[in-house]
Amino acid sequence: MGLGTMAAAFVGGPWLNRGMAQAPGTPTAPAPTGPYTLPPLPYPYEALEPNIDTWTMQIHHDKHHKAYVDNANKLLVDHPELSKMSPEELLKNLDKAPEAIRTGLRNNVGGHVNHSLFWLMMSPKGGGKPTGKIAAAIDKKFGSFEQFQTKFNEAATKRFGSGWAWLVAKDGEIEIVSTPNQDPPLLEGQRALLGLDVWEHAYYLKYQNRRADYITAWWNVIDWDFVNEQLAKA
Ligand code: MN
Repeated sequence: MGLGTMAAAFVGGPWLNRGMAQAPGTPTAPAPTGPYTLPPLPYPYEALEPNIDTWTMQIHHDKHHKAYVDNANKLLVDHPELSKMSPEELLKNLDKAPEAIRTGLRNNVGGHVNHSLFWLMMSPKGGGKPTGKIAAAIDKKFGSFEQFQTKFNEAATKRFGSGWAWLVAKDGEIEIVSTPNQDPPLLEGQRALLGLDVWEHAYYLKYQNRRADYITAWWNVIDWDFVNEQLAKA
């Protein structure tokens, strides 16, 4: 790409649109061309301000999550038998997919499943201390909410490169894990109760290299009611 082209691409890119008026809470969902569709955000793009900024939410949902959905649909075009499965089932049965598309499915269906949960794990009414059964489970396992936070922050900070930190449940036990790329905990038979996306695309526009600040802010938007719902299903 020549310099002139690069400049044109930059000027035409999303960077200059930051100040433009955007209709809140109306992500566009094009007609599905495969088994999966992009779920709408359950709140307006700006709902998690100032912890997670509007622009990040827009790009993260409308571009990144959409790309996982679109890519997964493309990979499944000639595979009606795989398309019949739910995304979770498909991830548990990746060995049934042709080897040539297995990694693509793992990454993109994983990305779709992870992000679909991630939006629901946050709420403009979130934050604060956990409530209900998850509060008791956290105290029992980690001693206190604060000790749990320290361990979770460590997992999220130490994940090298792109990935996720999770609180998961398996066999009646909760634990903190982290996964690379878009690998969902269900690949290990674990149910995701709470997850934090630490890909740079999740925080870079507002926090740049300050991943720790993003993690600190994220605690203010956790929807503990949703975490309790996930625990009840575990
Ligand atoms: Mn992401």
